[in-house]
Amino acid sequence: MTYIDELLDYLKRTSPGQEEFHQATEEVLHSLEPLFEKYPIYKENKILDRLVEPERQILFRVAWVDDSGEIQVNKGYRIEFSSTLGPYKGGLRFHPSVNTGIIKFLGFEQIFKNALTGLQIGGGKGGSDFDPKGKSDREIMKFCQAFMSELYRHIGATTDVPAGDIGVGGREIGYMFGMYKKLTNRYDGTFTGKSLKWGGSLARTEATGYGCVYFAKNMLEAKGETLKDKRCVVSGSGNVAIYTIEKLYHMGALPIACSDSAGMILDEEGIDLNLLKDLKENQRARLSEYVKYRKNAKYTPVTEYPKGRNAIWSIPCYAAFPSATQNELNLEDAKELLKNGCKCVSEGANMPSTNEAVDYFVEQKIAYGPGKAANAGGVATSQLEMAQNASMVSWTFEEVDAKLEQIMRNIFESVSTTAAEFGQPTNFVLGANIAGFRRVADAMIEQGIV
Ligand code: GLU
Repeated sequence: MTYIDELLDYLKRTSPGQEEFHQATEEVLHSLEPLFEKYPIYKENKILDRLVEPERQILFRVAWVDDSGEIQVNKGYRIEFSSTLGPYKGGLRFHPSVNTGIIKFLGFEQIFKNALTGLQIGGGKGGSDFDPKGKSDREIMKFCQAFMSELYRHIGATTDVPAGDIGVGGREIGYMFGMYKKLTNRYDGTFTGKSLKWGGSLARTEATGYGCVYFAKNMLEAKGETLKDKRCVVSGSGNVAIYTIEKLYHMGALPIACSDSAGMILDEEGIDLNLLKDLKENQRARLSEYVKYRKNAKYTPVTEYPKGRNAIWSIPCYAAFPSATQNELNLEDAKELLKNGCKCVSEGANMPSTNEAVDYFVEQKIAYGPGKAANAGGVATSQLEMAQNASMVSWTFEEVDAKLEQIMRNIFESVSTTAAEFGQPTNFVLGANIAGFRRVADAMIEQGIV
């Protein structure tokens, strides 16, 4: 057994049942093998043995009272994975599927993603199995306050800086920040993704989606291609999907499909972005409502998807942007995409493709941008928000967007030069994992055994 296989085996034995965490570690660790062969220093310093173990895991009870007066109990998590490069940084996810394995996979990925941005941010993630769907605004507020009544003592502008993720947007950040401020008597940059009215950064809302399209643009430019006039498919219809669609329009592309957990829409003339924003950002409605306003669009509910498949990936397109959630694209979906002419996949979500699908994209040498590189624009812009908060200034939309575009270009350069250094110039999975790992690992060696 190789060193890497032994470590993966150890993780399976000591953290049983955490499938997503095992999947994420397997993908990263295998692609680090060429680095370990070339540079024994990383194994000697047991960098990986240390990195797979979170520095601190906070698991807590969240008790709150719903609108009918009933007591509700949820699980709360904050997993502080690595503070080597800066304060723990990463979002909070509120979704019924949340468990330790999910938060650990997200936190582990976040270490490398944050390292790739070139900024001083460590990796962490948190959340709850609370389901915001169908809850009243008052219930959301009560839950956020109850969640913060424990989390506030663990976070701070120079220790741990949470942000949003699935189920956590501007509204939730507002309620959590309000409670944090009341309990600590501090007004600082402890959260990112704040409202523009009280400390948020311009372009943070747009950043993950915009960044993901910038990453695709960089990958395609390197092949002498562009997104102009190309049919694109974007899964999801949350923050990442909406601003991916917006940037695709800026690039002259034609985004024709998107989805939510209940179904997908196909609008051959191009998605009506204003309608989508109104449905999702204002009305908090289901996507099925879209076809009531756009008669030529087609809605397909998930109940009509072929078994084990995500039907959005069978729509012929030039570029695909998986922007919904983990494991939403499997090997069969990947094959179907490529069979129908897809040349580019840029991941807005975290780990949306299964490891088999990832291997297939890499083998086929398409322009494939793994999430930890392609969706790093969100967290990078969070760091720009922290920088503005710390220096008590605010930059214009254009300034932030220009910095974001430059950061995405830098990430692409570092990923592609690293891939070339290890003899696999089109393998951006290897490039992203090695480049991200190396930055953290070198810093860990300098900081000693802690
Ligand atoms: N949840 C986002 C991510 O997966 C953003 C994290 C942040 O801004 O801290 O990277």
